[in-house]
Amino acid sequence: MPAFFFLNFSFAMSSKFFSLPGRSPIDPQGFTFHCHSEVPCFQTCCRDVDMLLFPYDIVRLKQCRQMHSSDFLKKHTRLCEGSHPFFPGLKLLLAEEDDHPCPFLGVDGCTVYQHRPSACRTYPLERGVEQTGEGSPLRIHYFMTRHPYCLGHEQKHTYTIKQWEREQGLDEYNYYNDLWAEVDAFFSTNPWAGEGKAGPYQQLAFMVCYNIDSFRVYVEQNRLVQQFDFSKDERRRISRDDAHLLRFGFQWIMHVLGRKTNLVKK
Ligand code: SF4
Ligand code: SF4
Repeated sequence: MPAFFFLNFSFAMSSKFFSLPGRSPIDPQGFTFHCHSEVPCFQTCCRDVDMLLFPYDIVRLKQCRQMHSSDFLKKHTRLCEGSHPFFPGLKLLLAEEDDHPCPFLGVDGCTVYQHRPSACRTYPLERGVEQTGEGSPLRIHYFMTRHPYCLGHEQKHTYTIKQWEREQGLDEYNYYNDLWAEVDAFFSTNPWAGEGKAGPYQQLAFMVCYNIDSFRVYVEQNRLVQQFDFSKDERRRISRDDAHLLRFGFQWIMHVLGRKTNLVKK
């Protein structure tokens, strides 16, 4: 597998990314930032935002809105170029009003706050995941971004990265995004057996990664989980919990495409 470098907003295959304008390394002692409802720029960042949604973001948002994932995709996302040419990405579809607000922005702020996407949690930081070879440990990098409209940088409050991750509830998101980073890096090797774009395997992968409710039906109809050596507890978790199903799906689609995974056939 080639080295990969995966970020919450974007993806780059080389360390040239480190020197892109508007992004700087974070002081190991911590960074100064605070966002709260009294800042004059409150909610500015929730308008006209160009936001990639990752698979776990979609699981959480569609659960929050109590929508089927197919309906969520149709109503709230648009296809975009992914981090490489071999698999599409999804972006949040903004409202059509003049200042293009996020569809989840209400008069009092974010209406999906407990389920807000990774990018909203991580901002003003960006998180990168680097792996230099198959099986090698992931290296995490954080950067600071600065947008002129964001006055949070002028507030007198210092965080370490750990404190920021804890306050923003990032651990679970980072866990699933790291799994996705490995899957997406695998997709970047063009494993579609010459099918080209939107062939049957790529459509299957799209369903696994982005349309969890349809994947659940597919799993049940094809008795997929029963084909692998899972404990009873894990089978139960996969059948009840979208996040566990997503994790299984990531492994399964790589298995189907010929990548070695932890799945053990019965
Ligand atoms: S401080 Fe920055 S992150 Fe907070 S509301 Fe203002 S623009 Fe958004
Ligand atoms: S999901 Fe919430 S925090 Fe994120 S852009 Fe939309 S309204 Fe803002």
